[in-house]
This record gives sequence, structure tokens and C-alpha cells, in this order.
Amino acid sequence: MTKNSYIIGFPRIGEHRELKKALEQYWSGKISAEELHKAAAELRKRHWLLQKEKGVEYISSNDFSYYDGMLDTAAMLNAIPARFMKIEDDLQRYFAMARGTKDLTALEMTKWFNTNYHYIVPELNDEINFRLNAEKIIGEYCEAAKLGIKTKINLIGPITFCGLSKTSDNKGGTFKYFDTILSVYKELFAKIATLDDKITIQLEEPLFAKAVPPEYLQLLKRSVTELCEVSNKIELIVMTYFEHSCEATEILTETPVWGIGLDFIYGQKNLGAIKGIKSKRIIAGVVDGKNIWKTDFNKALSVLNEIDKFMPREKILVSTSCSLLHLPFSVINEPESKVKQLLSFASEKIDEVVLLSKLFNSAELSGDERGYMHKSEQITAARSTKEDLPEIKPEVRKKPFAERINLQKERQELPLMPTTTIGSFPQTAKLRKLRRDFRQGIISASDYEAEIKSYIDDCIAIQEEIGLDVLVHGEPERNDMVEYFGEMLNGFHFTSNGWVQSYGSRCVKPPIIYSDISRQEPMTVKWITYAQSKTSKPVKGMLTGPVTIINWSFARTDIPHSIIAMQIADALKEEISDLQESGIKIIQVDEAAFKEGYPLRKENVGEYEEWAVKSFRHTVSIAHPETQIHTHMCYSQFNDIIKTIEAMDADVITVETARSGNKLLRIFHDTAYKNEIGPGVYDIHSPRIPSVDEFKSQILLRLQVVDRSRMWVNPDCGLKTRKWDEVKPALINMIKATKAIRDSFM
Ligand code: GLN
Ligand code: ZN
Repeated sequence: MTKNSYIIGFPRIGEHRELKKALEQYWSGKISAEELHKAAAELRKRHWLLQKEKGVEYISSNDFSYYDGMLDTAAMLNAIPARFMKIEDDLQRYFAMARGTKDLTALEMTKWFNTNYHYIVPELNDEINFRLNAEKIIGEYCEAAKLGIKTKINLIGPITFCGLSKTSDNKGGTFKYFDTILSVYKELFAKIATLDDKITIQLEEPLFAKAVPPEYLQLLKRSVTELCEVSNKIELIVMTYFEHSCEATEILTETPVWGIGLDFIYGQKNLGAIKGIKSKRIIAGVVDGKNIWKTDFNKALSVLNEIDKFMPREKILVSTSCSLLHLPFSVINEPESKVKQLLSFASEKIDEVVLLSKLFNSAELSGDERGYMHKSEQITAARSTKEDLPEIKPEVRKKPFAERINLQKERQELPLMPTTTIGSFPQTAKLRKLRRDFRQGIISASDYEAEIKSYIDDCIAIQEEIGLDVLVHGEPERNDMVEYFGEMLNGFHFTSNGWVQSYGSRCVKPPIIYSDISRQEPMTVKWITYAQSKTSKPVKGMLTGPVTIINWSFARTDIPHSIIAMQIADALKEEISDLQESGIKIIQVDEAAFKEGYPLRKENVGEYEEWAVKSFRHTVSIAHPETQIHTHMCYSQFNDIIKTIEAMDADVITVETARSGNKLLRIFHDTAYKNEIGPGVYDIHSPRIPSVDEFKSQILLRLQVVDRSRMWVNPDCGLKTRKWDEVKPALINMIKATKAIRDSFM
């Protein structure tokens, strides 16, 4: 065992997504609850033993979850909304809360800070009978103990829990339950204290990585002090990650906590907050827990040496910057490639933490470890290409919107409140098989092309038949809006087995941006122009924007995002040029992930917005004034970012509003946003087919805040997850409603 090596948490989905498979088999009734429990226990065992063999001192229990850690915390607190109480079986109730049932809506799900992991949002209300359910936590601890592994116990802290939960009754928010919740935590601590003479608890309070109100800091002080008082057998670590948490750190130094966990990768400012904490352990997150590059040991060591100035070395534990949950399992499962040697996934990050803590404590390295370190140094040196990057001069469209829109209107001859869709049409099983067969070489390129074209034919015919005004080709050739472009651009790498949990059993395989990005050849022109050749109505070109591509990839860290974004923008710009030269009049640049890339701290927002806007504007800068640029974003909370949306200066923006009505849209009205808007009127997340009357009232409602001369009528988002027999009647009703309202204006 290497002293002072610390892993915040380990991915639970399994090296070969075993948990995903077991869960899905259980949900579909193919295996029993016992079999699921057995599969889960086997995975936990494997993950514990792996960490033990690699020499980690601090290994976690309760980092495992059948679905999500916030949901587990809700279950631990018995925070179960009344509608689920009729389900008696604990496990079935748990999954009902996560996924819903035929007659029960699931709890909401949302993004975990600035990662692509989604957590379940607990619902708190007065009907809840908070009480302790400690079986999972105690059970997993004992399971590890039987294997001879003494774990630290991971818990989401009460402030983060309350802060991320929601409540339907608006009297006092979720924090009115705080004291009750804290008392359940105390009970839990008391129970944990009976397990052993000394026991470490990792209390995760990532909420403090954001700037929080001063009351929360006071709550932190009070709650950890009271929790420490429960038993002197407990060594309490308060852990934050993803950003600095200087305010909380200062407060924590005044409490009896045993240790403080800090992110020094994404929160370098933490270095400024640790001066006064000599008496505590520092869990120093110096190995990047959410990106896939090998560690630069010199850099990590220099941070550790910085910390060393403030405290005795033996009090510094070497750690990942956050849980390894956000990384794929192991590089070992990747085929040989030039990129492979640059990579370090969860399993390799453990080796790096162990190696680093040996280095830092002047312990002897093995031959393998010396080799690993040497190699990673060479790679780090080789990847720094900063100097030879050609500078891309950011450009913007020449004419202002007021002039562009007139030229566009003259050319397009569209009716008032034009109808359109967001891009994709239903992705059938047949289509998915077609792409798979082509990928695996089972069918020829010409057969593949013929099939895709026939799907496009159908899409165009259907859109003409139902009377949409601006058509799309339907995106049959795309499995994913980022992967499609990544595979065609230079500079991207795709892993074979690099799965990361996104939510529940769902995993994603984010592309890796490893080098400079450029376009090899046109990426979409063939399909879009084919679609356009089949109709006299305009067909929208369909691209994914630079910000979304970066936010949904593992990006390189040797150059800033601003440069990567400009490289992508430059490549997309060429595509836009080709599209418009081939006669395409409208081009949509999707920025679905624009908002989710926002930094956690205000102080970093300006920089993000600057490169995000600059790269978007550069992408579309080549568009002629009469080429209409659309963008699309999958949400409608624009209050904080309306100025930025304005600065992007798309001619038309389509957003998601079917569920929120005008509440969120109002900001466009209040700020006198001038460009055109397509507020979603069809909720594509639901199989329901809205009636003509419903569509009418949706549209009329939107017209209260958007002037009809600037409004488009469209669904919330792409239709790829829906079925044709839902989409077709829904769009027919949408168009009937639009026409009726248009006629009423005559
Ligand atoms: N054009 C994409 C589609 O329709 C947009 C998807 C998205 O916004 N997530 O599928
Ligand atoms: Zn969308």
C-alpha cells in the first residue's frame, strides 16, 4: 500500500458495462433482483481489489450506485415523494423514482455541475417522513471489510443535497428541511461509528465549488461541527471538486474536520486558501479526474510542493481532482493507435496517483513506474504545438441583421410564421442497422448511399405532403450530432470502449480532440444538396457548432479552448461556404450544449462567452447576407445569457418552450431581442400528439411575447427519438393551427 494515496471515487458501470447490462436485464424482467445484486456485488469486489492491488490507501465504499448518488442519498434519508409510496418493494420503488412507471412520472434529472453526468433531482415536501435507511452504506462497508479492505465511506453532504433538490411548496425552499436532514446524517454517523475504532467519511459538498450565499457557509460550519461531535472515532473529510472552494475552505479551517479535499486542477485558486490549515489533512486533487490525458508529473509535483510549504508533508494526501466516474474504465481495452499512448483512463489514473504519492514522498519507484513517468514526460513535450499553430483571425458577418433579414425575406418568399423542424426525423431500427452494416463493411458504399437517399426521399415527400415551409433532410446518416462531425474532421480520435456513464444505465463515448482540427472534405453537402434537388421548398443545411462539439468531447489541454473552438469554426466555415455555393439558402448551426458549458464561477464566465461567441460568429462569418443562419438551443432559460445570445447574432434561433410556455421566453421580449425566434410548440420528449386546438393556444401564447413578423413555428428539438406515427399527425396539427392563425390575421 502506498501511504497517502487517495481516490475520490471509482466508475461503477464496469469495464465492459456489466452494470448497464445487468440493470437492463433486470428492468426487462430477464433476471431477478438477486441476480442483479449478485452482479453488482461482483463489480464492487472487482473494483475494490483493483484499487487495492494498485496500492491505493484510501479506497471508497458507497461510490457504487444502481442509478445515481443523489437518488441514493434521497433513499438514505427516506425522501420518497408520496406518489411512490404505494410501491412496496424497495428496489422497484427506487427504479420507479429514477425512471417512472406507466402511471408515475419519474423525478427530474439534470446535469451534475459542469460534467455530462446527470443526477436525479430529489423532491422534498412536508409529506416526507425523513428517517434513516443505512443498509446500503453499512452493507457496502462490511462487504469490503470482508475482503480485507477498510474503506472510507463516501456521502453526498447535506448542503449539496438540499441545494440540488427541489420542492414544490415554495415556502422556504428545500433548506427548511435542513435541520431534519442533518439529524438523519447524525444518526448515520453514530451508526457508522460503531463499525470500527477509526473510520473515515468523505462528505462531498461540491456545491461550494460555486459561489454560494453566506448562509450556506454558516450552515457548513455548523453542520460539520455537529457531525464531528457525533463521535471521535470518525475522521471527517469535506470534499469539493470541479472548481476552487476558497470561501468554504476558510470556514472549514475553523471546524474540527480531519481533512479537506480540494481540486487543484480546475480550482488552482485553492492554493491561496490553504495557508491556515496546518492542523488538517489536505486531500490534494492534482491528477485530473475528468479528462483523459496522461498526467504531467512535473506539473503535479510542483503543485504538491507548493502545498508542502504550508503544512507537514505527511498531512498531504495525493488524489484525483474528482471522482473517476467521469472517465472510461481502462486504456488497456483500446486498440493500438498513435493516440493511445497519450491516454489515461480511470484505471491508469489510479496508477498515476500511486506513482505521484511515491515520488512526492521519495519512495522508491519500480522499473515500470519509472518507464511510465519517462514516457509521459516525452509525450507532454511532444504535444505542445502552441508555437506552430497558424493564427486564425476571427471574422464576423459584414452586414447587420436589419439589412440581412430584408435580403433573406426577398429571396425566400416564406409565409408569415414559417413552419419548420429542428433537423432529425425518426431514427428507425432499420436505419440504425443500415449504418451499422455499412460501418462493419457488410454492405457497400453505394448500397448504403442508395438507402440513405431513399430515407431522404421519404422525409422530403412527407414534409411536402404535410405542408412544412422550410424542410430538412432528416439526418439519417448521423448517429450523433457530435460524433458525425468528429469522424469526418482531422484531429479527433474515437475510442472503441471509452464508455462513460451519462445517467442510469446510459453511457456515452465522447470523442477525443487530440490534435489540430481541420476539414478533409465536405461533410454534409452531398446529403443536403440531394434533399434540395427533390423539392422546390428551401432545405436547411444542418451543422453542429464549435461550442457544442467541444463541450461534448474530451478536449486537449495543451492549448486553450478558445483556439480549439476557432479551429473547429474554421473547418465549419468551409462547409458553410460549400453549402451556400451549392444553392442552400438556409443553414442551421446547432449549439445544443452552449449553455451547459458555462463555468461554475462568475469570474470565468466572461472568458467562456468570449470564445464561445467568437467561434460561433467566425463559423457563420462566410455566410452571404442573403443566406439565413439559424441556431438551435435545447432549453429556454436565457435570462442570464440573453446578451450573449444577442451577440451570436443568428438570424433565427429556435428554442425549447413547449413545457414552459412564455415564462422563460419573456426575456426575449423584455430585452427587445431583434432577431427572429422559433419557440418550440411541440414537446418532443413526450409521445403525446397535441391537438390542433392545443397547438393554436401554444402559438397564440407565444405571440403575446414574440411579434408575429419575427416568429417561426417549430417543435422543441429534433424528432429522432420519436416514432413516425407520432411525428406525422403532430406536425399536421401544428401546421393546421399555424395556418388558421395566419388566416385570422388576413
Ligand atoms: N439538429 C439536431 C436534431 O434535430 C439537434 C439536436 C439537439 O439539439 N440536441 O437532432
Ligand atoms: Zn435541441
